[in-house]
Amino acid sequence: MQLQTILNHVEKQSGFVYDEIRFSEDRSKILVAMRPHGRSRPICSGCGRKGPCYDRLRERWFEFVPLWAIPVFLVYAMRRVDCPWCGVKVERVPWSEGKHQTTLSYRIFLASWAKRLSWKETSLIFGTSWDTVFRAVQWVVQWGLTHREIGEIEAIGVDEIAFRRGHEYLTPVYQIDAKCRRLLYVAQDRTESSLRGFFDMIAEPSLQSLRFICTDMWRPYMNVIAEKAEGVVHIFDRFHVMKKFGEKINKVRVDEVKELKRKGKGEVLKNSRWCLLKRPENLTEQQAIRLKDLLRLNLRSVKAYLMREDFQRFWEYESPTWAGKFLDQWCTRAMRSKIEPMKDMARTLRRHRPILLNWFWARGEISNGSVEGMNAKAKLAMKKAYGFKSYETIEIALYHQLGKLPEPERTHRFC
Ligand SMILES: [Zn+2]
Repeated sequence: MQLQTILNHVEKQSGFVYDEIRFSEDRSKILVAMRPHGRSRPICSGCGRKGPCYDRLRERWFEFVPLWAIPVFLVYAMRRVDCPWCGVKVERVPWSEGKHQTTLSYRIFLASWAKRLSWKETSLIFGTSWDTVFRAVQWVVQWGLTHREIGEIEAIGVDEIAFRRGHEYLTPVYQIDAKCRRLLYVAQDRTESSLRGFFDMIAEPSLQSLRFICTDMWRPYMNVIAEKAEGVVHIFDRFHVMKKFGEKINKVRVDEVKELKRKGKGEVLKNSRWCLLKRPENLTEQQAIRLKDLLRLNLRSVKAYLMREDFQRFWEYESPTWAGKFLDQWCTRAMRSKIEPMKDMARTLRRHRPILLNWFWARGEISNGSVEGMNAKAKLAMKKAYGFKSYETIEIALYHQLGKLPEPERTHRFC
């Protein structure tokens, strides 16, 4: 069997034939010469109509899917069309477009490996550059975004993710319907306009079915929601509320460490950060023992920790009325605690009482951990794309992993 037969089996190139196949001079690559079918006339890349041939350009190599770990290139000198409508234009070929040095199939191949491996690993395994992998993913994502169907959306979760060690932020918006969880949108920063972009991008009909929006207690998001999503139930999700608690506990701890150091007792809270921030069930044995020791001491950090643990009960309520009562009692206790960051937390919770209680009305409609789950996946996607961390790279990595985007249909799956 000849290589041409296999190539024709996996992928026919309409209007062209696989011609002579040879090794490159150093025998490191397989070169497949391409030739137009019979006397077929070139197709104008501007308008898609056939036209007379004007001239031929220099030979170009288009990287195809490797065979037995040998790189394969389609080799072809593009014709130019003397198009009556567009003028002189380069012809359209079925395996690639524009200035790409890779074939469509190879791009889809690389991108689907880049979903499973890191981009760096993908480039090493297939002997290509990180940049080529990036461009492959970028192309697949752009294709997917142009061809995706949004449909009806019932619930969205607005998140914020820090990157560049917390110097910059991005705002992803997830669809968190029971039947479909995916990333719908992502924007740089966490300002009002970051979120406003979502409402500008999604067409009106898709938003008519919107019933729930989950966010954290971030003022700019709340402003946009009040303006753009009237009548939609606004919810603060557990993940973000408890994250806020974590920030407050850390503040108490940092202040107390400073104070203890002044009194010459700096050792007491050393290495306590994770003991106090993690939920008890997530502690290592060592940390659990440390926590036990800490609990014996009458420290503000420990009190704050216990107050947060106490607050977890809030989420277990069934009835909004009883949850509300619990919330009020908790806030009263916190206000008497003389721990400033906890009083601050109580003030925030009081201010947002109605939105906090909305959670109990939406119960059963959206799951507790949906935003948190998407957040964890997003962080993993950002790790996998590790390399040149521009905002654009991260955006593409997130859409690629979490967007559930459609892919171009192919006759053959290479992986
Ligand atoms: Zn044309």
